[in-house]
Amino acid sequence: VSANPPTSDVVVVGGGIIGLASAWRARLRGLSVTVLERRAIGEECASAVAAGMLAPVAEAEFGDAGRRLLELGLRSARLWPDFAAELEQATGAEVGLRRNGTLLVARDADEARELERQLRFRQSLGLQVRRLAPSAARELEPALAPTVRLGLEAPEDHSVDPRRVLAALRHACELSGVRLRERAPVARVEVGAGPRVTGVVLADGSRVPAAHVVLAAGAWTAEIDGVPAHARVPVRPVKGQILRLRDPDGPGLLRRVLRFEGGYLVPRGDGRYVLGATVEERGFEPHATAGGVYELLRDARELIPGILELQLEELSVGFRPSTPDNLPAIGRGTPSGLLWAAGHHRNGILLAPLTAQLIAHALTAPDRIEDRRASLPAELEGACDPLRFATAGGLPTADPPGPPVGVHS
Ligand SMILES: Cc1cc2nc3c(=O)[nH]c(=O)nc-3n(C[C@H](O)[C@H](O)[C@H](O)COP(=O)(O)OP(=O)(O)OC[C@H]3O[C@@H](n4cnc5c(N)ncnc54)[C@H](O)[C@@H]3O)c2cc1C
Repeated sequence: VSANPPTSDVVVVGGGIIGLASAWRARLRGLSVTVLERRAIGEECASAVAAGMLAPVAEAEFGDAGRRLLELGLRSARLWPDFAAELEQATGAEVGLRRNGTLLVARDADEARELERQLRFRQSLGLQVRRLAPSAARELEPALAPTVRLGLEAPEDHSVDPRRVLAALRHACELSGVRLRERAPVARVEVGAGPRVTGVVLADGSRVPAAHVVLAAGAWTAEIDGVPAHARVPVRPVKGQILRLRDPDGPGLLRRVLRFEGGYLVPRGDGRYVLGATVEERGFEPHATAGGVYELLRDARELIPGILELQLEELSVGFRPSTPDNLPAIGRGTPSGLLWAAGHHRNGILLAPLTAQLIAHALTAPDRIEDRRASLPAELEGACDPLRFATAGGLPTADPPGPPVGVHS
């Protein structure tokens, strides 16, 4: 046994969609990359539970943080077709990108009023949306209940099958030479002189040396020790229960992603559907509940009565990695050599291609400010800055102030 294991350019902690996509992109730029995953890939992660909506327009929210998230989402949505094609070409596996758009629907007068407001908001931002009278909505999706009051079509909000993406990313990583280590839980980041990251320490005490460490451990990211308290990103789990259904008669019930107050129904195109999801602030409480399932089915049945004929294939629970402002933390933190790719909340599948691009960029061109600007405008870069949560009170007083946040190495 070697006393000095080889040093990777990059260690990525976490083998969810964010960690694997970042690892793959970094590897394609010529870096040596090791992914450390505490379980098996896909065994316990939000990415394998997610519905796979690529829905920046449907997700658009009021307020500053909402605007920035929308900008990030639109950028990543534009990257998805090429990302999917590249992944499919590299691995020969399909990732289930379906470009059929999304339909938001209202069930009663109150919901219709709210949908009108949402329509005006999206139009004011220049987003592609179309108002649909109930008859027009039912023409597009005949399985909709006659009681539907109003529809809003977002033709550019698509979907992908996250499980297929995860499997393809795994394969692409292996083919490109990323080292994947499963059952390798990381206990802490190791920091040496400088201060600068020197690698990570696993739960069994062994070291994995690296020049850079990317924290991509989803909702568990905050559990990893070794990051100075003032420079941590406060990621917390937001629980979601989600159902997988199958139509024994095959596809055809629904073509578009359907969104409504309280949930969504995502068709996979082969007779399978994903019905989600609850949003619960319960920490890592892992149990599915009768109440959660009841609410999901109750709401969906009002809109698509045919859903009750579907077979129930799976009920799962996932944990969205969420930050206080619901924006992700992407890029360089402190100490030097530490990067964050975490906190993607409800949009980690959507934001995976953009995140991977930004992380690969930060790893290979960290000092060329003009390069970084080319990939994301300063305002958006600031919105994702892992150091935006840094507490000034916690900063070490002996150190001189560093260069501007977000552009230092
Ligand atoms: C019910 C539900 C529905 C969703 N639907 C959508 C959707 O439609 N569209 C969308 O864009 N997003 C959706 N999301 C959000 C999306 O799933 C997440 O934002 C995304 O999967 C986060 O990816 P990740 O790689 O950061 O985390 P994860 O996929 O959770 O992966 C983190 C990985 O890190 C590993 N890990 C943790 N701790 C350690 C450690 N100490 N050492 C080593 N490895 C570790 C874990 O085992 C895990 O494999 C949904 C989420 C949920 C829960």
